Amino acid sequence: MGRFIKREGQRFGRLLVIKRAGSNKQKTATWECLCDCGKMVVMAANNLQSGNSRSCGCLQRELTSARSKRHGLTKTTCYNAWFNMKQRCTNAKGDDVKNYQNRGIMYCKEWEHFLNFYRDVGDKPANTYLDRIDNEKGYSKENCKWSTPAESALNKRSSKTWHILGQQFPTSKDAAIALGVSEAVIHRRCKGKVIRGKYHPPYEGHYCVLKYR
Ligand SMILES: [Zn+2]
Repeated sequence: MGRFIKREGQRFGRLLVIKRAGSNKQKTATWECLCDCGKMVVMAANNLQSGNSRSCGCLQRELTSARSKRHGLTKTTCYNAWFNMKQRCTNAKGDDVKNYQNRGIMYCKEWEHFLNFYRDVGDKPANTYLDRIDNEKGYSKENCKWSTPAESALNKRSSKTWHILGQQFPTSKDAAIALGVSEAVIHRRCKGKVIRGKYHPPYEGHYCVLKYR
């Protein structure tokens, strides 16, 4: 026989012990308790004693819902944009690795937390997405804005100026047309390229310059 401790009338958090219920499989005494919310529950004595059971479950539900309601934005598209940004930067497989991790594209430390992100970028206007102004740089207040696909395309095309043997072009497409080659050739000549593990530096007199900073 285990010890019998009278607990009637004792209070554990929101729970008021009413009467002995019996014992559970572990042969621990169980008690019928009235929660402050009005619900009757049966709790094991050891859980009451340790503080594990402090309500019928309503306390935990309230805390959880308070956490998710704190910023009240979890369902907004802004939140989704933030969540997806983090996914892209930290996803360990697929194209994301190639497009983000391998290029060192990450989000700034502050943006680990949604509220900081929201403070910096604000609500997401319809038909926009989170756009990096300089595609070579990561996600930060300075380098991000909400752009429509059209704005973004313009942005990326014109984020660099292209310099080829003393001539300057506003876009690589302009350079390609002027020189009668493909845009890929312009990119390769100005940026260099790794082909079959061997690095080919940019051609002499060929380079591109970021317009932003
Ligand atoms: Zn309750």
